[in-house]
Amino acid sequence: MNDDDKGSQVAQLQSPLIIQGKPISPGLVKGVIHVHRNILGPIDAPEYPDSNNHRKHDTEEQLSRLDVATASISDDLLVLAERVEDEIDARLAEVFSAHQLMVNDVTLRQELRKEIIENLVSATSAVKTVFLRWEKRFLLMESQIARDKGDDMRDISIRLHNALTGITTHSLETIPDTCVLATSRLLPSDTIFLAGRSIAAVLLEHGSAGSHAALFAREMGLPAISGLPNLFGVVSEGVFALVNADSGLITLRPSAHQSLIFQENIEHNEQVLQEARKHAQSPAITKGGVTIPVLANVGCREDTEKAMFNGADGIGLYRIEQAYLGRTVPPNKEELLIEMQETLAAAKGYSVCVRLLDIGADKPLPFLGFMAETNPALGRRGIRLLREYPELLKTQLAAILELTRDFDIRLLVPMVTLPTDVLVVKEALIQLGKTLNLSQLPQLGAMIETPAAALSAKVIGRHVDFLSFGTNDLTQYAFAADRENAAVEEYIDDGSPVILRLLEIAHDDVPEMPLSLCGELAGRTEHMARLVRSGIGTLSVAAPLIPMVKEAIRSV
Ligand code: PEP
Ligand code: MG
Repeated sequence: MNDDDKGSQVAQLQSPLIIQGKPISPGLVKGVIHVHRNILGPIDAPEYPDSNNHRKHDTEEQLSRLDVATASISDDLLVLAERVEDEIDARLAEVFSAHQLMVNDVTLRQELRKEIIENLVSATSAVKTVFLRWEKRFLLMESQIARDKGDDMRDISIRLHNALTGITTHSLETIPDTCVLATSRLLPSDTIFLAGRSIAAVLLEHGSAGSHAALFAREMGLPAISGLPNLFGVVSEGVFALVNADSGLITLRPSAHQSLIFQENIEHNEQVLQEARKHAQSPAITKGGVTIPVLANVGCREDTEKAMFNGADGIGLYRIEQAYLGRTVPPNKEELLIEMQETLAAAKGYSVCVRLLDIGADKPLPFLGFMAETNPALGRRGIRLLREYPELLKTQLAAILELTRDFDIRLLVPMVTLPTDVLVVKEALIQLGKTLNLSQLPQLGAMIETPAAALSAKVIGRHVDFLSFGTNDLTQYAFAADRENAAVEEYIDDGSPVILRLLEIAHDDVPEMPLSLCGELAGRTEHMARLVRSGIGTLSVAAPLIPMVKEAIRSV
């Protein structure tokens, strides 16, 4: 290499570099990069002494070490779940409750014991081998949910390994405050360590917008960008970065001019947000005088509280899956009712739209057994599954009818494709209403999440009081691209004219029918004018977005 080449390499190293990732939690921040490669470092368990010397009492000792460690982390996880629920977020707490169930899973425990007994290895070594096997099984699966399970397995194995070897510190304890953390991926328990820290942003090699890490980051208002597979090749320790987690752009070693513009953007965003917050509790009325209620999508108590604080005009989508995930038996009517009442308490007196359980074959519920399907997204999910398990449907309807005592309830049927999908629910509702001697039943709505449903608005509309567009799924099905699969992300565009056209066709077919929109598209302020023009009368969005969405409507 001649001096000119060397000089140009150095210049390249020092010149600004812009990289593009996938924004998974919004916000604009700047900070110094801290590279943390080994959150998921290999588990270097000391191997058990030569197996030839293995004796019966050694095996028993290892089995007992395993039992003690399992019991200890099981207790820890229960305490952790309670703490997280109180201090951070009920949905994140569910992750740790699920870990507690997993660590006590009979199949897993038997496999660990078998490994110790048959291969004459230490408890630590058995944990390493067995968990790696399980983790790989999950990571090889296509669905993001299954891959998240792989992360869960890794998380539990580290916890169990640490309990066996007496390690009590976490590798994230040493990261500096206010840094931009660059790492491979985050496990649920890593997020707990970040909760107490004031780091500026997180850059991840891997992690979908639906991953635990993304969920946590959004809850904490921590800007995060993922989908940066070559992250460690481009970032280095101590480099200054501008992180735009709204667009996914990261500027490394910015010029003075780039920094100045970025700072102006930060200040502008802050001003706009402050202004929007001032008016958040007032209704959103377009310049033409049309009021568009802005409701909230919620899944847990904290969501509802945040939503009401941010000026929600009601709840447009209550996802009840939380009450079912991580359980070994489905909740009965009373349990479900208590969970719903707790979740919705802050919205008393407001209109609340409860969606029936929307679970798919790729989100297996332990009590339904394992239902292997080649194409889970095209298989038994949402109402299709409830039609197969009528008792599951009945329990939900019974709890929801009870809820009408305290709330102005509307009921939403997920994944409707055929008119029969709503008729089944309508008949069950009428039947139950008669048994309970109710004079009035809640309004019934169909979620329009498949192109077939959008194009059948007329026939489906005959049996319901309103339609709600679930554009997340509508986009996945219209573009034939799995919404959880980052490899086909290019095909997922919920703001595409294709989706807006489907909304307009449905509106033209049923012009009198109240239409709402509860997919992520409802929160994209850049599409507001077109959404309002296409006949959407109500929007439902994540709680933090409400002030800005209301502001956007006011400028239509
Ligand atoms: C949707 O599909 O747009 C929707 C709101 O439902 P979910 O994201 O829960 O599938
Ligand atoms: Mg959906």
